[in-house]
Amino acid sequence: MEQKQNILVVDDEKSNIDIIINLFNKINGGELYNIIPVLSGEKALKAVEKKQIDLILLDIMMPDMDGYEVCKILKSKESTKNIPVLFITSSTDDDSIIEAYSIGAADYVTKPFKAVELLSRVKINLQLQQNFKQLEYYAYYDTMTNVYNRRKFFKLATKKFDTKKENLYGVMIDIDKFKNINDTYGHAVGDKVIKSVATHIKDSLDDEMILGRIGGEEFAIILNADSDEMIYNFIESIRKKIEHIEIFINQTDVVRCTISDGIAKYHDGMPTVDHLLQSADEALYEAKESGRNRTIFRINKGDIRC
Ligand code: GH3
Ligand code: MG
Ligand code: MG
Repeated sequence: MEQKQNILVVDDEKSNIDIIINLFNKINGGELYNIIPVLSGEKALKAVEKKQIDLILLDIMMPDMDGYEVCKILKSKESTKNIPVLFITSSTDDDSIIEAYSIGAADYVTKPFKAVELLSRVKINLQLQQNFKQLEYYAYYDTMTNVYNRRKFFKLATKKFDTKKENLYGVMIDIDKFKNINDTYGHAVGDKVIKSVATHIKDSLDDEMILGRIGGEEFAIILNADSDEMIYNFIESIRKKIEHIEIFINQTDVVRCTISDGIAKYHDGMPTVDHLLQSADEALYEAKESGRNRTIFRINKGDIRC
């Protein structure tokens, strides 16, 4: 069953919130949506941090923080800027409407509203939001492995490079002799192996680490670490884990695979994240050349073979 969509209703008048809740309960919206009522702008901003919200019904005139201010704050944050805001207000003048749309409102409904109109607008805005999320997923993710695609990976990696260079590391990972797996077991099994490797890498990382599938059987990670030893041991632990996974291709037969890793560390004078990853790629090349199923760590220009 599909999960209920969460609608945050923000109004300083409890009676206004009750009208909206009754409305949703009366029509089958009561079964479709999960209504979260809050009585102030501050509480609304807390609620969006705690729960994933699909739509906000926002009053404009409220004491302390008005609806415009709430909307501006929501639109200024990466995590909340895409939540559609539908103003519900008694302000009917042109300036209020212009202001609402100029700060990013998705829709504007004036009080007293017609029940069918509000419900229709809620429905269409939720539908648009769902479509947007779907498109965003296709734009940012590799749908086969569920990790970031090349474009999104480089975007996020560049952002990290520009904001937090200290102790920044780039890692390139490539499945060994993968062509043999395709040739021996077929493309579908090859896909299964790529998915399994991606999942194992992803499950080993925390939220701050950025992982992307940057080629067929190639992955890259950008991450901060406290020491060279720590990162080397961390990447080695992933390599060893993958060495031991058994990928079932039918009831009885399994395929195994190994990966090679190249690690590079940021140093002064490294102009872009591409240089960091290029350096990691050179280390990966060396890992391949020297026998595969190993991790090579490169610091500055000299290679350190761990
Ligand atoms: P090495 O150890 O040097 O990395 O050898 P390799 O065989 O892994 O490297 P190579 O680059 O020669 O081969 C990679 C193969 O991966 C070639 C390509 O057909 C295959 N490939 C790329 N993308 C996919 C995919 O999405 N699915 C499958 N099944 N195969 C893919
Ligand atoms: Mg390979
Ligand atoms: Mg390759």
